Amino acid sequence: QFESVGFIGLGNMGFRMVNNLIKAGYKVAVHDINCSVLKKFSDMGVVTKETPFEVAEASDVVITMLPSSSHVVDVFTGPNGLLHGGNLLRPWLLIDSSTIDPQTSRKLSATVSKCILKEKKDNWMNPVMLDAPVSGGVLAAEAGTLTFMVGGSEEAYQAANPLFLSMGKNTIYCGKTGNGSAAKICNNLAMAVSMLGVSEALALGQSLGIAANTLTRVFNSSSARCWSSDSYNPVPGVMEEAPSSRNYDGGFASKLMAKDLNLAASSAEDIGQNCPLTSQALEIYTKLCKDGHEARDFSCVFRHYYSGKDE
Ligand code: NAD
Repeated sequence: QFESVGFIGLGNMGFRMVNNLIKAGYKVAVHDINCSVLKKFSDMGVVTKETPFEVAEASDVVITMLPSSSHVVDVFTGPNGLLHGGNLLRPWLLIDSSTIDPQTSRKLSATVSKCILKEKKDNWMNPVMLDAPVSGGVLAAEAGTLTFMVGGSEEAYQAANPLFLSMGKNTIYCGKTGNGSAAKICNNLAMAVSMLGVSEALALGQSLGIAANTLTRVFNSSSARCWSSDSYNPVPGVMEEAPSSRNYDGGFASKLMAKDLNLAASSAEDIGQNCPLTSQALEIYTKLCKDGHEARDFSCVFRHYYSGKDE
């Protein structure tokens, strides 16, 4: 039911997601502050726009895929932003797939819902915003196998589902506005802590004389089994396809993990929740970044934090 889809933020993830929208037959208009990536799209014959507002003017639905909360706020409410036209809005649905804090998602959604549609669409009186961050990384973005976790109006979620499924293979409705963002930062918090647990245990095991391969086999057939041990093992050579076996290149950068832990820590602080492991994981990943490993996959915490092998 969408004729035209706007997309803003054509980085590692957005670039690939747009390509899948195009493959699925959507008419797309794109924008990014990086001119060279815009040129790639115009060379492919895709409509490119100078500002978020121009994207909004050309689209029924706009998807944003930006680095962090401040960029999202800027693209929505800054000069020439999506909401630049005062309270009159052309798109009836705005979907933010960036990983940001739930508080910002909720504030922006409230601002969007106070706008009025330029043209009334079916039963939609006011525009709606969904927070729909993704899990799966660059490879899943490329393959169109992302998981979307979505917060906001259930009716809007149902309407947007075909869009999500053209870029991903799973969608999970998480409830009210901000719950998609909350789900994403909680998922990454659990992943960060499990990676630290597995790394710490494997490092201790090696020091006690057990080979990482052997200890991993024990974990994977015992109660320590988890994604960090059986799919993304942090010890080089244990799992050929994991980033640890290619010098921690590619994968999910430590700086993105530190960013997501920061979001979890500040969300916990906002509501006065005690989250001691979040604080400690944030400290460890921040140190990893300061030591120069910010671009490496986050599982490099095994080598550079636990086994003391710095290079
Ligand atoms: P990226 O830095 O590669 O891309 C972000 C893009 O946004 C860039 O092209 C940048 O030029 C553009 N941009 C920044 N400010 C802008 C503005 N004001 N107006 C228009 N464009 C602007 O980031 P990414 O890896 O694509 O990640 C995007 C989001 O997805 C982040 O929130 C990240 O946490 C999340 N995410 C990333 C991964 C991953 O593996 N890379 C996985 C899941 C979720």
